[in-house]
Amino acid sequence: TRRKLAAGNWKMNGLNADLTELEGLPSVSRAEVLICPPATLIERMARKTSSVSVGGQDCHPARSGAHTGDVSARMLADAGATHVILGHSERRQDHGETDALVRSKIKAAWNADLRAILCIGETEGQYKAGETLEVLRGQLAGSLPDGTSPDNLIVAYEPVWAIGTGLVPTMAEIRDVHAFLRAELTARFGADTGDGIRLLYGGSVKPGNAAEIFAVPDVDGALVGGASLKADDFGEIIKALE
Ligand code: 13P
Repeated sequence: TRRKLAAGNWKMNGLNADLTELEGLPSVSRAEVLICPPATLIERMARKTSSVSVGGQDCHPARSGAHTGDVSARMLADAGATHVILGHSERRQDHGETDALVRSKIKAAWNADLRAILCIGETEGQYKAGETLEVLRGQLAGSLPDGTSPDNLIVAYEPVWAIGTGLVPTMAEIRDVHAFLRAELTARFGADTGDGIRLLYGGSVKPGNAAEIFAVPDVDGALVGGASLKADDFGEIIKALE
């Protein structure tokens, strides 16, 4: 059975003082809770908590070297991270990340013993053109390396048009997409891996819609942006998952 996961992506938000939010989170017994703060806070966050896992938001594909401003997967792990978000649509948009680059970053994450959270999702234009499944199929095929397993990979489906907009697909759409993703993973990696990989939904998840989203088959949790910044909101979402 797949362990439920509530993952927070703080994006480019969070200073030292914001670490106090950790203290307001509910304790959980069944679900796993992960927060991916900016790289500057990973080490301090990891030292402050044992009940919440800590992750990065990106890494460079290389082990080390002349890459000014970049952070390697081993550096994230060294700071206390256990996970790393890769291929987020904001990275794809702001930094031109391709599926091939994301694939090499996933391998770097594995070499550092980090679990990768691969983000995929269609843009508004692709959604309106009815291209969603085709886009997702291409992103999965292009960015997942051989060797993908439930232990080293989590997939987050984040429709780009739902991120930070308050818009959310219908529950039927979320159900159909997640069933499709599971079938694609099963076709390529076999039934054990396809059944075991956790699929998160992301995009405008809030306390008010979390329970409904978590009731959708094949949704194993959420990747939460804005609503993960405050303990009250994120706590409600975590409780909806338990
Ligand atoms: P919001 O929850 O703010 O819509 O962001 C979703 C997201 O991009 C998480 O990675």
